[in-house]
Amino acid sequence: MKYDLVISGPAVLPEGLVEDCWIAVSGGKIAAIGTGTPADAAQSHHVTNGVVIPGVIDGQTHACSAGGLLGIRSTTRSAIAGGVTTIVDMPYDNPNPLNSTERLTAKIAAIQEHAYSDVALYGTVLPGQTTEDIAPLIEGGIAAFKISTFESSPTRFPRIATDQIYSIFSALADTDIPLGVHNEDQEIVRSLIAKAKTEGRNGLAVHSESRPPAAELAATAQFLELGAAIGAHAHIVHLTTPRGYQLVDHYVADGFRATGELCVHYLWFDPETDGEVLGARMKVNPPIRPGLIEPLWREVLAGRVAFVSSDHSSWPIDNKFTPSIFDAGAGVPGLETLLPAFYTGAEQRGLDAAVLTVQQLCERPAKFFGLWPKKGAIRLGADADLAILSKRSQVWNSERAHDELRWSPFDGRAFSVTVSRCYLRGALAWDGEDVINVPGSGQYVPRGKTSWFEHK
Ligand SMILES: [Zn+2]
Repeated sequence: MKYDLVISGPAVLPEGLVEDCWIAVSGGKIAAIGTGTPADAAQSHHVTNGVVIPGVIDGQTHACSAGGLLGIRSTTRSAIAGGVTTIVDMPYDNPNPLNSTERLTAKIAAIQEHAYSDVALYGTVLPGQTTEDIAPLIEGGIAAFKISTFESSPTRFPRIATDQIYSIFSALADTDIPLGVHNEDQEIVRSLIAKAKTEGRNGLAVHSESRPPAAELAATAQFLELGAAIGAHAHIVHLTTPRGYQLVDHYVADGFRATGELCVHYLWFDPETDGEVLGARMKVNPPIRPGLIEPLWREVLAGRVAFVSSDHSSWPIDNKFTPSIFDAGAGVPGLETLLPAFYTGAEQRGLDAAVLTVQQLCERPAKFFGLWPKKGAIRLGADADLAILSKRSQVWNSERAHDELRWSPFDGRAFSVTVSRCYLRGALAWDGEDVINVPGSGQYVPRGKTSWFEHK
């Protein structure tokens, strides 16, 4: 039998790194895996000085918060160039968030028209909305729901009060669907921002002070307890301190469904050393805290981090450099830096970088969002989504990025690897120089049947 494609070289399989591996593809799926002399195929590619990994699943992106649904185009093009074959996009689209089957239908149509990578979706519920739309959205393949305890925008990114969180958890309790939260206490943050403004203070450090760990942890604890009381899956979409992961772990130890996610910028930046140079370029919510890079890596290694994501935000730079830090958009671009940054950080700490990267960026998000075993692993029958990492160092320059944003907090940072190829369902999509697939090559990926807690 002659396959469509065979890729040979070192590869990370679910059981670990296999040096002398080959992966054969037919009809966009992985059809055979072996070692030694590769099987016969119409096309072949041999990897030297690099490693083949599953395509990355970026579990948190905001493709449409600035330019609306068209943002899928540049975001997924950037994804493909970064070795990310599936994004899980947040619901806070401009101008209207994804809270109904009508908006789900519109977003799927936008994916079919614009996407270069595959896309799974979060949905949300707006203030005052009943839980009636939840079941049809799940039926439509929504991978997870997300709400916020803090109002970033009254219409696009509103605050959901505790009584409504209680009813959303109740509607999800009998399902495998996680409810994610942006975890900051509105009253604490608003009063500290008002105080800082009255005192005429400005700058990144004041932004951080106005959103202290207490605001993050209080919102986290309340959300975890509501989820536990109702028996639903409570997920914190970013925890910035080890204490946050340890809180989650207490709930898991008590038999509740609780998880916490980390974003790669918390593993790379420290306001004490980087804040002066980066300023609003490293403004994210909740803020990056001083002195926590190494403690957060320890949380990853302890297994208390569900998975690592980019939290890619599609803000143009003029939305970052506002006169007041409080008006600057929160969030950073990150689809082309997630994979090399996580790998490099792991390698710098003497860890098994390839295996840890596959666990945190591929396998775990696939299991979390019900995309396993179709996505997230090099195994028989899975989609042939593959990224090739070359052991070629690079200094990041956002001018080269494909997100149309032209800025990044990672500018000037050295990565030990480069994404030299990316295949989406067996088709070469990124050749190391150009994105060579086209808008509409990407597909909507509905949530499958597997759930996170079965896999624990
Ligand atoms: Zn986010």
